[in-house]
Amino acid sequence: MDYRFLGTSGLKISEITYGNWLTHGSQVESDIATACVRAALDAGITTFDTADVYANGAAEEVLGAALAGERRESLEIFTKVFWPVGPKGPNDTGLSRKHIMEGIDGSLSRLQMDYVDLYQAHRYDHQTPLEETIQAFADVVRSGKALYIGVSEWNAEQLRAGQALAKQAGFSIVSNQPQYSALWRVIEAAVIPASKELGISQIVWSPMAQGVLSGKYLPGQPAPAGSRATDEKGGKNFISRLMEEPVLTAVQKLRPIADELGLKMSQLAIAWVLQNDNVSAALVGASRPEQIAENVKAGGVRIPAEQMAAIDVALGTVVVRDP
Ligand code: NDP
Repeated sequence: MDYRFLGTSGLKISEITYGNWLTHGSQVESDIATACVRAALDAGITTFDTADVYANGAAEEVLGAALAGERRESLEIFTKVFWPVGPKGPNDTGLSRKHIMEGIDGSLSRLQMDYVDLYQAHRYDHQTPLEETIQAFADVVRSGKALYIGVSEWNAEQLRAGQALAKQAGFSIVSNQPQYSALWRVIEAAVIPASKELGISQIVWSPMAQGVLSGKYLPGQPAPAGSRATDEKGGKNFISRLMEEPVLTAVQKLRPIADELGLKMSQLAIAWVLQNDNVSAALVGASRPEQIAENVKAGGVRIPAEQMAAIDVALGTVVVRDP
């Protein structure tokens, strides 16, 4: 496993990071979740991403329980704040000082930890003054409950404004967490150039397009049993917009490219995002431990320019570039 710096900070994270959205506390039972965490640790993954809202708090609980007893210094734990966990009162959403201060305490309690390494604004809050949000994050860092601050799905303008205020408040935003894959390239036009100027790196979600880029969903055929596309607890809804026939057909054209490189399609997808020098980590999910063992082999793979160009040709017009 290779480790990369998060933004311009001194924090190193595993370039393949394990995320537990839709799986822990929902699609998979606790024993499978624990086995996935074990497989991740065995493969050299030290960085784990979750959020308060995943499975309504249960994902943080499952991850915390699975990591109990591990040496805390050997782990980087990332969580997020924005959406409500449990009751949806007027102050249970967004990035107000109240929700951030209460949010971090709730997350630490569910994770059974004294601090998280990265606390992330899960989205931009258009209703709270940015000054209030940034000041609250500064206070969370000063309290020692989070060591670094990141954001998720902020656009270039929001990153610029947030970073300017963060510097004034005495800290830096180190990371942004956007969706990014060979199929979903919205951040390339403005977010990545702005991030490079600002010292922010990307931790990218759904690098495998929720499993679609693994090539296991064949056009015109039923989804394999046990896959996210069959997960009635939530996964099926989230993956549905990627399950269109033209996308699945184009994805199958990646198979010969992966074969040529001696890679699985899943590994090709992960290596593709890691090729971008503004990406600190591919945030990969898994519903079983064998997937993790397969996926980590994408670490350190360099896709030659010829195959990068062939991927663009294969995917053609199904690639999403505009928000
Ligand atoms: P991926 O694109 O990595 O999809 C993971 C899913 O693909 C797995 O759960 C599994 O689903 C399937 N899969 C994994 N490996 C393989 C394999 N080798 N072969 C075939 N199928 C495979 O990412 P996710 O969509 O899960 O997102 C990853 C993480 O990103 C989340 O856990 C979360 O931490 C973060 N995230 C952040 C968001 C944000 O707003 N900030 C939003 C969404 C995610 P199955 O076996 O069930 O088909």
